[in-house]
Amino acid sequence: MYIVQIASECAPVIKVGGLGDVVYGLSRELEGRGHCVELILPKYDNMGYDQIWGMHDAYRDLWVPWYGGAIHCSVYCGWVHGRLCFFIEPHSGDNFFNRGCYYGCHDDNMRFAFFSKAALEFLLRSNKRPDVIHCHDWQTGLVPVLLFEIYKYNGMWNQRVCYTIHNFKHQGFGGSEILWATGLNRESYYFHYDRLRDNFNPFSLNFMKGGIVFSNFVTTVSPNHGLEVQFGDYSYGLGHTLYLHQNKFRGVLNGIDYDIWNPEIDRFIPATYTAKTLADKAKNKKALRDRLLLQDVDKPIVAYIGRLDEQKGVHLVHHAIYRALFKKAQFVLLGAATERAIGSWFAHEKRHLNDNPDIHIELGFNEELSHLIYAGADLIVVPSHYEPCGLTQMIGLKYGAVPVVRGVGGLVDTVFDRDYDTQKLPEQRNGYVFYQTDPAALESALDRAIDLWYESPAQFRQLQAQGMGYDYSWNYPGKEYLEIYDLICYR
Ligand code: ADP
Repeated sequence: MYIVQIASECAPVIKVGGLGDVVYGLSRELEGRGHCVELILPKYDNMGYDQIWGMHDAYRDLWVPWYGGAIHCSVYCGWVHGRLCFFIEPHSGDNFFNRGCYYGCHDDNMRFAFFSKAALEFLLRSNKRPDVIHCHDWQTGLVPVLLFEIYKYNGMWNQRVCYTIHNFKHQGFGGSEILWATGLNRESYYFHYDRLRDNFNPFSLNFMKGGIVFSNFVTTVSPNHGLEVQFGDYSYGLGHTLYLHQNKFRGVLNGIDYDIWNPEIDRFIPATYTAKTLADKAKNKKALRDRLLLQDVDKPIVAYIGRLDEQKGVHLVHHAIYRALFKKAQFVLLGAATERAIGSWFAHEKRHLNDNPDIHIELGFNEELSHLIYAGADLIVVPSHYEPCGLTQMIGLKYGAVPVVRGVGGLVDTVFDRDYDTQKLPEQRNGYVFYQTDPAALESALDRAIDLWYESPAQFRQLQAQGMGYDYSWNYPGKEYLEIYDLICYR
């Protein structure tokens, strides 16, 4: 099968969060199963060019229709750790992707509407006719709309679209200017409840809704989140649209790439280890302490790695720092804030706790340090308010860092409470779960985890080993996506 992924991120060259990991990991898995996979990405000025091998011109003069005229683009091609990627660079005064950032510009909707259009124009002009176009999140929500309303009539009549929603919180909005710019035009047609009109703001188009309505199949990133968005209030207003399209909607659990996230072969950590040589994890713990200037004492290390965002339950992350201290544990935080207020809050905490030998707060994005933290930590907290899938708990499990999570979204599908789980046998349980969003709830799980570390080290090691035994690779999700592709291509 010939699959083209259109996305705004692909790790490690462009990574803000889990989306980048998923786009890369899924592509690799599909290729490993013998399928032809190509990726189309924006050519951002700030992406990791050192991660691209053999970058060269692939299509020099691509003219992408835009408003009444056209924008001249160049398409470059290169390999990102073995994956064939095409990078689109527009040459226009808008400087869509030369902003020194991936997201957060006032015209993000225009930037990614343009990217969606350019990606299809590139496929059309270069005569690429994939069986499946797999696109991701609001940034590419217009791809199926443009495909089935315009490009289908220009020669791309046989393509099918699978659309994956990684985060319902960010849906992408715009007004009629989006229609004029992309050539969709026909305001009254698109500003219709059955098409792109936002479910709550009649004057706005919703990119993600367009993706749901027009795609052949829609997925989100875990089965439990699939239920939450249909029957709970986690869909940020798209619940009714999902209800109408329930026959083509499913939650598929993300995987993680065990070629990158694997303590047996990880090149970023000083001592590799397996569940059988778990004692070697202590060498990484020592290296982590040395690197972050934490005191070398007999205490567990609790870690948090992730964006510092309301969605991640920042108030509970903050509480976990002090609770860990109170329970005589050490705490390491690695995170980049998504809002200035949260950034200043944690910058203040960092200054305040700077001299404490049991705490380290690292603000910013550091992939290499994250590997050492997973390898050195005993516990990893994921107290998310909302979590479509969550990769950190799955990575933590693989590294023997026992997850302490809030039971929401994909965390419910992947972490099973050691003491109270009702689905798994005791020898299959792998972490600690709490449900409410208040500090006491977090304590109820974190305290049990730290107590086990102190009071029953052998049982704690057993729990770590049980977690390491789980297979959260792309093996199963890869199979499931291929079933979906088959379904939409051949039904
Ligand atoms: P998100 O909601 O951000 O997509 P996920 O749990 O799905 O959250 O994925 C987070 C990914 O990003 C993981 O691979 C995690 O290790 C990584 N990550 C998050 N923040 C940082 C950071 N500050 N430095 C390095 N890696 C990070």
